Amino acid sequence: MDILVFGIQGSGKGTQAKALALALNLPIFETGAELRKIATMDTEQGREIKKTIAKGDLVDSQTILEQLTIYFEKSGNIKGIIFDGVPRTYEQALLFDAMMTEKQRKNIVVDIQLSEQDALERLRQRRICDTCGAVFLPDYTKSVCNLCGGNLIHRGDDNPEAIQRRFAKYKSETLPVIEHYRKQGKVISVQGNQAIIDVTKDIFTQLSPLLKLEKDC
Ligand code: AMP
Repeated sequence: MDILVFGIQGSGKGTQAKALALALNLPIFETGAELRKIATMDTEQGREIKKTIAKGDLVDSQTILEQLTIYFEKSGNIKGIIFDGVPRTYEQALLFDAMMTEKQRKNIVVDIQLSEQDALERLRQRRICDTCGAVFLPDYTKSVCNLCGGNLIHRGDDNPEAIQRRFAKYKSETLPVIEHYRKQGKVISVQGNQAIIDVTKDIFTQLSPLLKLEKDC
């Protein structure tokens, strides 16, 4: 069973996706991180993606599909994957669903809910490690990463203009994707405005019976 994690930017989507991956011992496909890797390359595609991310726009669906294809080619059709940040548009959802049906994969969706106001406050304050990409919230006051010693910086797209565009895209493009899965009865929703550990607990309270059901079938 795959788990798709959704949430507005700053909701803790990446953090909870990592917690799920760790607790369930599953690999994670982190779309934003994959794209940021390509964006560091001095190629036409790298430069294009870098510009798109910096503006707060969405990368084209074909590139996303290519990245998924490459991921499956490398890892094989492994049992369960945590998908962080995909699909992000209705067009991507249809392509994604077709790919997963073809691979006979099932999924469940986690929707982390947070108001734009709370999300904005978190994005203003969050820092990431420039080396390993770990995310640090305001309660961590040091300037170096406690995992790898890298420098902590603000993400290039965590600037006011890009944040507003990303929020707008989330509302217009991604919320319809969650609704698409909700209609299929696949979505569990949790409140993101709590401590990280409490969000994780809420996810597991709802997810565990579903995973157990899947195991027993
Ligand atoms: P994230 O790290 O999930 O906030 O993603 C960072 C940026 O990568 C987004 O603002 C988009 O520009 C791009 N991105 C990530 N996932 C997708 C996706 N599924 N489709 C299009 N663009 C994406």
